[in-house]
Amino acid sequence: MSDSTEQDVTERLPPEDVFSILGNETRIDIIQALWQAENTPVSFSELQDRAAVADSGQFNYHLGKLVGTFVQRDEEGYGLTYAGRRIIGAILDGTYTKRVEIDPFEIGTSCSACGSSLEASYENDQFVVCCPNCTEAVLRFAFPPGVLDGRPRKEFAETASRWIRAQLSFTVNGVCPNCAGAITHSITRDPEYHNREIGLEYDCERCQHHATATVGLHLSYHPAVIALYDDHGIDLNEEFLQSYVYNVDQYTTVRSNNPLRISVTVSLLGDELELIVDEDLNVVERYRK
Ligand SMILES: [Zn+2]
Ligand SMILES: [Zn+2]
Repeated sequence: MSDSTEQDVTERLPPEDVFSILGNETRIDIIQALWQAENTPVSFSELQDRAAVADSGQFNYHLGKLVGTFVQRDEEGYGLTYAGRRIIGAILDGTYTKRVEIDPFEIGTSCSACGSSLEASYENDQFVVCCPNCTEAVLRFAFPPGVLDGRPRKEFAETASRWIRAQLSFTVNGVCPNCAGAITHSITRDPEYHNREIGLEYDCERCQHHATATVGLHLSYHPAVIALYDDHGIDLNEEFLQSYVYNVDQYTTVRSNNPLRISVTVSLLGDELELIVDEDLNVVERYRK
């Protein structure tokens, strides 16, 4: 028997056909006009006015190309489909349309190796945190430009923190943030990330999305870690970048190889939490000191 999840999927249109629909200014204007409308559905004549297309025949032709994929129609008029709203999101988040560069700024936390103030910058669609003293970047995360564009500089670190926390949550929970496929993880003993003894790699089976992380980062979603921070009045969702990312994994060690047991100690203001995980990253023991 074939996999039941595959039986329910039908391809609506080949990707080249779908994306060629969008290669027209009038159609993009229609999608944006539908997004900007306060009330939907929007009637044919109102939509024509909003999209500012004078020729009814032309308007009808281009609207017809969008219906069924990016635009839905009922008796009262037109609205965006989920696919149409995703196009608006892609326009607004700037992935395809914007370029933002932000010079290095201090993020209010120090390098765990040398104590210097860490600096973040944004270029080539990547949010990068570096220590000005140590050469290696301590964090590198792909980011749509729209996440930072239009926000005051003092909010960059907080905004980046929330974004990274949310995106990483998909990955940690086995969902690819790029294509929604299945993510698998593997423990590496000679990791490229941060020169740690033990690292973690995530791979998407569908789109080949690849990410490197640490066991400590993976465990930042474990309730015991969240509770440790909460006990000190710190919301880990808000302070992820500032108080967690650089300090965890200094104390990650292999307890045993067969079976594999990895110990991660999270230290916070004199409190210690040790979590021991197996090869599937399930927590099998925990100690609060
Ligand atoms: Zn340093
Ligand atoms: Zn993927």
